[in-house]
Amino acid sequence: MTGRPGRAYEKRREQLAAGLAQVHARIEAACAAAGRDRAEITMIAVTKTYPADDVVLLAGFGVTEVGENRDQEAAPKAAAVAAAGIDVRWHFVGQLQRNKCRSVVGYADVVHSVDSVRLAGALGEAARRWRDRPLDVLVQVSVDGDPARGGAVAGSGDADRSLDAVAEAVAQQGSLRLTGVMAVAPLGWAPDAAFARLTQIAAGLRADHPEATVISAGMSGDLEVAIAHGATHVRIGSALLGMRNSLR
Ligand SMILES: *Cc1c(COP(=O)(O)O)cnc(C)c1O
Repeated sequence: MTGRPGRAYEKRREQLAAGLAQVHARIEAACAAAGRDRAEITMIAVTKTYPADDVVLLAGFGVTEVGENRDQEAAPKAAAVAAAGIDVRWHFVGQLQRNKCRSVVGYADVVHSVDSVRLAGALGEAARRWRDRPLDVLVQVSVDGDPARGGAVAGSGDADRSLDAVAEAVAQQGSLRLTGVMAVAPLGWAPDAAFARLTQIAAGLRADHPEATVISAGMSGDLEVAIAHGATHVRIGSALLGMRNSLR
């Protein structure tokens, strides 16, 4: 770890403390406006493109949930954080390829992005072989029904991508626990309409799977709207850690 106390380290520590204070204040205000209890909301710090040192600093401020979207980056980062003696829960929030399942089940506590029956099968198989405890899984939902951009589609005729079929495929794997849904507001949709639709879809899913209570929705730009619509988990990157250079 390169996190030796020094001027750059202290500066980064202050930046992250300020980012965290701002994000917490936004979440609190959004809960107050929506008449919700702050304890209902879990903040996941999405640390993609930022180093393991930042995760260690955030953990020092009490952050326990960390999100990543690419296995190539997440696997070594999770290993570095664990080697520093820091215990956080890792959320895999990005598109997941079946050939990465074995690696991801090695460090992830929650996968937010299962959106096909085939992926549910591959992840279940990997978790059965390479984990000693069940893996929490959210089904990623396509709010606009466009399967090209990822997400299972409510009422789809495509058996591999139908929301009900994907949820059932997860629920049937003894090595996976279906805990809820995740979505990203589609480009060109007002977050208000997107998260209203997601809430509706989540309620439909809970009729068949009452244990699926998590709604992972809301990022730096739209966390207030997501909380107004019932999000239980918000995934916050840039508002906490700063703007990323790339568009990831
Ligand atoms: C990057 C990312 C986030 C965080 O985005 P910000 O706008 O930086 O808060 C949340 N969810 C997913 C799936 C992401 O890939």
